[in-house]
Amino acid sequence: MLACNDLTVAYDDIVALQGVTLEVARGETVALIGANGAGKTTLLQAISGLNPVRSGDIVFEGASLVRLGSDRRVALGISQAPEGRRIFPGLTVEENLTLATVNWRRWRQPITDDLARVDLFPRLKERRRQLGWSLSGGEQQMLAIGRALMARPRLLLLDEPSLGLAPRLAEEVYERVRQIANSGLTILVVEQNTVLALSVADRAYVLETGRIVLQGTANNLKQNTRVREAYLGR
Ligand code: ATP
Repeated sequence: MLACNDLTVAYDDIVALQGVTLEVARGETVALIGANGAGKTTLLQAISGLNPVRSGDIVFEGASLVRLGSDRRVALGISQAPEGRRIFPGLTVEENLTLATVNWRRWRQPITDDLARVDLFPRLKERRRQLGWSLSGGEQQMLAIGRALMARPRLLLLDEPSLGLAPRLAEEVYERVRQIANSGLTILVVEQNTVLALSVADRAYVLETGRIVLQGTANNLKQNTRVREAYLGR
């Protein structure tokens, strides 16, 4: 479904990704793991059109994305829940969700079906009239994911869904991610929390200073000595 081919992305002189080649097949959950600053967010933003590509290609369902704006990529079915959640604190849960649809489709189309999709998050439903700022970190993360689902994506990009969350809440968020994956949606998730990422992924790539250094099934990577020592602390 998605292929990044020999991708290089740079911020002026800082080369953040170099020669990255990665694939995500339809229905797969793929994790990209790596330390702080490895280039994970840079890759997701290149896929969603927020970072220009210096060389290489990004192909989604057979078509190159690199010359398309981010709005076109959303229309093609790529949606991202950004790092740090970025919800609107002064709007209610429901307003955050409906606002997500304004840019990319006509107002009059019913959104009730889409709001029903976020029934996956029962606590959001309970809190739909509550303001964004009053939600817990875990609820805000679920709202960010719910908002990304409102665009009816075929590929969901998740940027560090566990960031800043207490372990129990991070696990709860990942339980939802697992449910979304089980529903058949294709997911690319980037994470510093390797244990959680490998708990949902079918396959994973390890990114170190802008290069893919390892790849394999989640089960194989859990056994890999380098992954165990550097990322699992065992
Ligand atoms: P984190 O987990 O901290 O978000 P990451 O793996 O997502 O880390 P990136 O944020 O993609 O890493 O950063 C990769 C490299 O690019 C880092 O060296 C970072 O300092 C640099 N970088 C990221 N954004 C910019 C920017 N806007 N301008 C200049 N350099 C940047």
